[in-house]
Amino acid sequence: YHIRMDEADFYPEGALVTVLTAEPLDRTLDYKAPEGGVERGAFVEVPLGPRKVLGCVWGAGLGGFDLSKARRISAVLDVAPMRDEMRSFLEKVAAYTLTPMPAMLRLATRAPGLMNPPGMRKIYRRGTGLPPRETEARKRVLDTLDDYGGLSFTLKELADAADVTPSVIKGLLPSGAIVEEDTPRDLPYRRLDADAPGKELTEAQGEAAQALRAAVAAQAYSTTLLKGVTGSGKTEVYLEAVAECLKHGRQALVLLPEIALTSEFLTRFEDRFGARPAEWHSGVTMTERRRVWKMVGQGGAQVVIGARSALYLPFQNLGLIVVDEEHDGSYKQEDGVMYNARDMAVLRASLCSAAVVLASATPSLETWANVEAGKYKRLDLESRYGPAVMPDMQALDMRVDKLPATQFISERLANAVRMRMQKGEQSLLFLNRRGYAPVTICRACGFQIACDHCDARMVEHRFLKRLMCHQCGETKPMPEACPSCGVEGRLAPVGPGVERLAEEVAERFPEAKCAVLSSDLFASARALKEQIRLIAEGDTDIIIGTQLVAKGHNFPNLTLVGVIDADLGLQGSDLRAAERTFQLMRQVAGRAGRSEKKGIALLQTYQPEHPVIRAILAGDEEGFWRAEAAERKMAGVPPYGRMAGIILSGPDLAVVSDVANHLARSAMPLQRVGAQLFGPAPAPIARVRGRHRIRLLVKAEKGAPLQVALSDWVRQVKLPNNVRLQIDIDPQSF
Ligand code: ADP
Ligand code: ZN
Repeated sequence: YHIRMDEADFYPEGALVTVLTAEPLDRTLDYKAPEGGVERGAFVEVPLGPRKVLGCVWGAGLGGFDLSKARRISAVLDVAPMRDEMRSFLEKVAAYTLTPMPAMLRLATRAPGLMNPPGMRKIYRRGTGLPPRETEARKRVLDTLDDYGGLSFTLKELADAADVTPSVIKGLLPSGAIVEEDTPRDLPYRRLDADAPGKELTEAQGEAAQALRAAVAAQAYSTTLLKGVTGSGKTEVYLEAVAECLKHGRQALVLLPEIALTSEFLTRFEDRFGARPAEWHSGVTMTERRRVWKMVGQGGAQVVIGARSALYLPFQNLGLIVVDEEHDGSYKQEDGVMYNARDMAVLRASLCSAAVVLASATPSLETWANVEAGKYKRLDLESRYGPAVMPDMQALDMRVDKLPATQFISERLANAVRMRMQKGEQSLLFLNRRGYAPVTICRACGFQIACDHCDARMVEHRFLKRLMCHQCGETKPMPEACPSCGVEGRLAPVGPGVERLAEEVAERFPEAKCAVLSSDLFASARALKEQIRLIAEGDTDIIIGTQLVAKGHNFPNLTLVGVIDADLGLQGSDLRAAERTFQLMRQVAGRAGRSEKKGIALLQTYQPEHPVIRAILAGDEEGFWRAEAAERKMAGVPPYGRMAGIILSGPDLAVVSDVANHLARSAMPLQRVGAQLFGPAPAPIARVRGRHRIRLLVKAEKGAPLQVALSDWVRQVKLPNNVRLQIDIDPQSF
């Protein structure tokens, strides 16, 4: 698939060109250029069997067959051709993650309707006028259109989006408030004002902003770590880099973890630049996706705020990528093309001479290592903006409390909460466990209810009145009797989830106003937003939350954070457990004391002597990273060595095992590059959705040509139907 240098930019009518499609084929296909010719990189529609499929002109045709049989490109789409840098990016990601090119093209064209012919009837909002007779339903139609800023819908899409019948929309047409036209127009986004003044920066912020502006102005590749505790004003600083990028007429991309893509952030952006940026994440509607994709390609979108897949949008002139909360685990895609968006952002930027800003309070060890090696620059914001300071941290040694098995809040933590309430301040009780209880056990026979399809326990969700598998999402009603022994009324919860914690809080603080923040409890993003607004206004005494509260939100009156189980993340054999726990605890603690009032964080733990817990309490970040780096270096694992996981999965364990064993026996290609093989062994989750999973782990030295060896190796086995092989480079757990 590599670009050959002798390729032309343009192919005249009848010339043979090679086209990459998103179909699962193992090669490109040759077609004849249509009337008027076609540019290299053009997105086209080509016949494939009886179908028409989307493709991209990759270069000159390869030939080698009867040319009179070559079919013709059926249409050249009215979108900007793929730039060479994008093509190069897709090829490099494919090579790095061992992903077939068609899957890469699918990632790069994740906008619906790119092939829709013009002439489809679409509905638009005309002006901001109101119809003479306003009804609830009509208002919903107009609100929907307004919400999407001038976007068009088909009749059916609009009816669905506004939750009305098509007749309501038809009834609105004569009023002129909406129109139906048949040329789809994808409107550009409102221009952002690059010169609008930002907040007045502190001296430290000013210096950091100056350095980032210079990095952007250089219009050359660079990566900078912007490090500072939550609330230190990092966002304010990188918005300056965005402004600089706009001044140079280049586009900017801000990546946020999905969970942090709040409207709070968008509002802040709008306040700064006078208009909203384009958005790209799982919550964006299909029509809006198409608009973003096209506008990014035409330069009609100057800034995109998005989740990791926004890296594959067809930017024409990308000058800056910000990866906020760069350490966040959700940047690692665990499905399909397995990539870490942080690393891919760096690659993307290096191909288009852009600057990268990695922002974090608790950088990943990978980034830390790159700073140490001099590959990334580092900027520090030492303290919080304004009078806010990091909270004091203390451990509560749970061994001395001897709490009954149904109680999870120690007396000392409860007293601290009471004190806050007397002062009219808020407390947050953090427990990173959704649901009521992680385990449901039968007191008669000891049976634990597990998922039928996964190697996982079913978690009781009292609010939903069901048991739920957190692996596959399957739910079932809570049974009366034990599914194993049949005895009734003896099923009991073991251990706490946030819902159970909320119950204890309600019992012990009957006069307190509580709010539970957990993703299961909100029907919509809007409901969650409303709850967060109420909390921020101070309407709540005690907040009980999962990691949903760990990031982003700013609760000025919150002065106490109580971590119910600080040991939770330290269990198991995962080598990244220490890093993750350290980051999460620092982040949660950072929720306290974000205004003048100093905060405190209390960590309930059974192992206060644990080195990770001690490092968290001491706030000795550099020390922690140094120790962690030394350990990883010794073990030869990332970022100081290379690893890959091969996951084989299928419905029949014996068949999957056979393939795994066969692979293990034919590891010559790995040995040639000095890589070690571990396994086969059951994968971290040995069964998901009825598929058994077996993992082989490969470890190699930093400079070893791992990808080549891996592809030579796995190519040797022919996979039986039903068995799937996934390659996970740099796995999250090892
Ligand atoms: P971070 O991204 O490091 O968590 P933010 O940029 O969100 O920090 O800043 C934290 C809070 O302080 C925000 O409410 C922000 O508006 C405010 N803030 C930061 N810098 C300034 C400044 N220079 N002037 C006024 N307010 C500021
Ligand atoms: Zn399941």
